[in-house]
Amino acid sequence: MSYIEVRHETKSYQMGETTIMANHDLNFKCEQGQLTVILGPSGAGKSTVLNILGGMDTPTSGEVLIDGVDIAKFNEKQLTAYRRTDVGFVFQFYNLIPNLTTKENVELANSIVPDALDATTTLQQVGLGNRLENFPSQLSGGEQQRVAIARALAKNPKLLLCDEPTGALDYETGKQVLTLLQNASRQDHKTVLIITHNAALAKMADRVIRINDAKVRSIEDNADPIPVS
Ligand code: ADP
Ligand code: ADP
Repeated sequence: MSYIEVRHETKSYQMGETTIMANHDLNFKCEQGQLTVILGPSGAGKSTVLNILGGMDTPTSGEVLIDGVDIAKFNEKQLTAYRRTDVGFVFQFYNLIPNLTTKENVELANSIVPDALDATTTLQQVGLGNRLENFPSQLSGGEQQRVAIARALAKNPKLLLCDEPTGALDYETGKQVLTLLQNASRQDHKTVLIITHNAALAKMADRVIRINDAKVRSIEDNADPIPVS
């Protein structure tokens, strides 16, 4: 069984007389232990599907099976619980809390899930064991993103959802961040999904799902994805 199975997922918005189709009959799967990239230009429907997979929104129709459970049928309370415990989020602009230290930002996971991983250990994993007491403003963009990844990993979720995780980073720094995400899939057996408009990221994915104009246009598996480093 695939960790994610999206079946006939459609999301439309009613704007007065007009209906905007953000996702139109999407069908795809993402496997545990793999890194999947959803690639498409601005307006393709990437954020819409990511929000639905993250339990931040619900589809107009279709099924969204996560580990065999259809979250499209969840009520608000179930969605909140799912978001908090089952998913780690990584955003383009890190979303760290500015007046908390690196360590405190990652320790927030403890207040969310009872069995959160140790913040110091998780920060050591992303190479920031020496920056525990720094505030986000004292870190580079790449370091801030590594803190954000540590925060996501500390919840020990099976699923990592990443929205343009290298979008604000230069090439070399982006590579370090992508390596961490690739390791999370390969070594920690997580299901990692990245949405991006950057075609360069396709090379390091196990699966590439191209979407355009609300529809899936192609799905390709890389038998031998290029390691980022
Ligand atoms: P992407 O993330 O690929 O840039 P989005 O999923 O954000 O694309 O948007 C897909 C389409 O849905 C766009 O045409 C966008 O304008 C529209 N859309 C997204 N959210 C809303 C909303 N809340 N209300 C109306 N239209 C929306
Ligand atoms: P730009 O974003 O200015 O168009 P590029 O097209 O060169 O620049 O892409 C830069 C992005 O690609 C960076 O954010 C970087 O993180 C990402 N990247 C780095 N290494 C790889 C790689 N091995 N494969 C795919 N993408 C990568």
